Amino acid sequence: MNIFEKRESNVRSYCRNFTAIFHRAKGSIIYSESGEEYIDFLAGAGALNYGHNHDYIKEKVISYLDADGITHGLDMYTSAKEKFLAKFDEVVLSSTQLNYRIQFCGPTGTNAVEAALKLARKLKRRTGIFSFMGAYHGMTLGSLSITGNIGIRAGAIGTSSNVNFMPYPYGFMESFDTIEYINSVLNDVNSGIEKPAAIIFETVQAEGGVVVAPIEWMQRLRRLCDENDILLICDDIQVGCGRTGSFFSFERADIVPDMVVLSKSISGYGFPMSLLLIKPELDIWEPGEHNGTFRGNQLAFIGATAALEYRESSNLQQDVKAKELFLKNFLTQQIAPISEKIAIRGIGMIWGIDLKNFGGNIFARSITLRCFELGLIVECAGRNDTVIKILPPLVIDMSTLEKGCSIIKEAFNDCMSN
Ligand code: PMP
Repeated sequence: MNIFEKRESNVRSYCRNFTAIFHRAKGSIIYSESGEEYIDFLAGAGALNYGHNHDYIKEKVISYLDADGITHGLDMYTSAKEKFLAKFDEVVLSSTQLNYRIQFCGPTGTNAVEAALKLARKLKRRTGIFSFMGAYHGMTLGSLSITGNIGIRAGAIGTSSNVNFMPYPYGFMESFDTIEYINSVLNDVNSGIEKPAAIIFETVQAEGGVVVAPIEWMQRLRRLCDENDILLICDDIQVGCGRTGSFFSFERADIVPDMVVLSKSISGYGFPMSLLLIKPELDIWEPGEHNGTFRGNQLAFIGATAALEYRESSNLQQDVKAKELFLKNFLTQQIAPISEKIAIRGIGMIWGIDLKNFGGNIFARSITLRCFELGLIVECAGRNDTVIKILPPLVIDMSTLEKGCSIIKEAFNDCMSN
């Protein structure tokens, strides 16, 4: 028994599928202690859009540490925070003409989700929240209550109060209009469901199995919220920060959510950081009303500022479009023809190979296991883990991307012939 099995809680998860001991990483490659190399199509579950140890960001972080820059400052004004806010204002908000206040939340995505729920309830003086079937928003009590996976909710009994799950545009007949359904729930005096404070949604359900919401659906959702005096919260934790091309994933629908939660790749370097963006008129917090010790990690400010500088100076958005095309072509031309039971979905640099029609998750798991043996880290998501989720760093070079894809194909060949 190794020290992890001996001492680390049973709750550990990714390490059970990717069993090597990792110690070094660069760009899109992770190296194990025993000398193996793995292409990374997991990218810290979306936290490493700029890859591992990105040179430009690293240099900024190292010189900050070298100069004894403040590493912890509660939420006091610091130069690191000042620079980040100014850069975010310039590169993200001004360029998209979005006007948000920024709340620094506790270190991880779920902290921003909790803040959004709390603020929405305070604003509307209503307790209800609508979420969507298939949604994933985190593991603390509030976030878990709006997460669709019943299995992971089982550990926290009684979390679903005041939350109603509406159908996402997935798995229903084309003729079933999910927005019309929500509309009737809200406007039928006999629906049994009270009007919520907010509706929270993902533009792409990533953990939910890479399900991409149609543009028109998102626009109608925005209108429905306006017409019914409900706040719209977009969880852009996994697919924001350029994953779908534009900085925010909702930009493609030309809508403006009332609040946005961001985390994962915002710090650029895998440092913990999470933000709640709030329309200025909705920022009704009293000073200190949602406090915490670790809100706005200083190194994360440095990483995040450098990442935005890099985004500004590189062609990342166009680059994602080119890689999107490559992934789409590869999956539709080389993986889909393997079997009619395979479905492909995706956008930007998040793609899913849906294998649910093979029954259970044994086939999907056998593929990701074989990929790992062949030197590729890629995980399963979706209902019963039946979807292989492809999530490379956005900065991956084409030859590594091609190599990773060829490993997936080889794994399919190996597993289909077994
Ligand atoms: N929302 C979404 C869409 C996510 O993908 C995740 C993490 N997978 C979270 C919230 C929760 O973030 P964290 O794990 O950092 O708490």
